[in-house]
Amino acid sequence: MSEIRQDQATKRWVIMATERAKRPRDLAATVSTTEPEPEYSPDCPFCPGNESKTPPEVLAYREGDGPADSPGWQVRVVPNAFPALRPDGEVVVSQPHWFTSVTGVGAHEVIVESPVHNDSPATVSVEHIGLVLQAAAERFMALQQDRRLCYVALFRNNGLAAGSSLTHPHTQIIATPIAPTSVRLEIEAARQHYDDRIHCVYCETIQNELDAGQRIVLETDAFVVLEPFASRWPFETWLIPKQHAAVLTPGDASPVEPLARALRTTLNALYHALGDPAYNLVLHEAPLRDSCEDYYHWHIEILPRLATAAGFELGTGIWINSVLPEESAEYLRDFVSA
Ligand SMILES: [Zn+2]
Ligand SMILES: [Zn+2]
Ligand SMILES: [Zn+2]
Repeated sequence: MSEIRQDQATKRWVIMATERAKRPRDLAATVSTTEPEPEYSPDCPFCPGNESKTPPEVLAYREGDGPADSPGWQVRVVPNAFPALRPDGEVVVSQPHWFTSVTGVGAHEVIVESPVHNDSPATVSVEHIGLVLQAAAERFMALQQDRRLCYVALFRNNGLAAGSSLTHPHTQIIATPIAPTSVRLEIEAARQHYDDRIHCVYCETIQNELDAGQRIVLETDAFVVLEPFASRWPFETWLIPKQHAAVLTPGDASPVEPLARALRTTLNALYHALGDPAYNLVLHEAPLRDSCEDYYHWHIEILPRLATAAGFELGTGIWINSVLPEESAEYLRDFVSA
């Protein structure tokens, strides 16, 4: 008989379809091998020399003193050429009678992670991931000053199946004048848990999962990486800081190196275990100026796209997962090299 598990943090239900279970190794084998990408692609707007094919950069780290929008950068942040939201104008909420809408004010930026077209965060140096995180932190700090904005989303789409149209390694930032519903639901569930038990549900998750041991992929001084008990997808992987905080604030208060190291190790394990899988990586943290410090706890969710969400998942919000997280964690641990 299959088992229906509930995620303590969100109350979301997942059917562990053990009768149609696949072994983790079978999934790795079904991952298609695509043509390897070159180190440089002349038509790619993110490759060095093509800086004029993107909007002017908002931030770049260069080793020398080269001018803006010229080669020589290691990490470069540019506005998205086809932005979902734009940074000019006022936020106007319109609610005539019934039809609620808000003007599309915000920001949509791309962090080009490397000048090398075929680099991967799974294989670059920890120092280089630190540089990308530093760029993200700088942009977060800049966008947070904007009182019109309510949330800054950081996400990475890896591979076509995860919605990425450009293979050059990049991460995106979308800042919105509204708070995302999925984060709101997590925060509300975390608040209820805190009201009931006076503890943060994510801190308790870390403790209980470390005690259980079965679903832990990696433990470092600062982070726990695990396959959640009610994983929606095969190899769903969460990276949770041990230090309770509602938002990620890299910088002096919280150095980027421990996060860069944990992230690099995790992505490297997924890369080798599953053959560079398509995945979405998202940062979940408290909305700007939100007072949920006591009970919300930032984390990173990595959702490999080894299965497809279909009618039942989309229509009910109940997920069916054919791989037990205990098994995927055990499989992944073999690929963790510190
Ligand atoms: Zn490129
Ligand atoms: Zn916590
Ligand atoms: Zn989350």
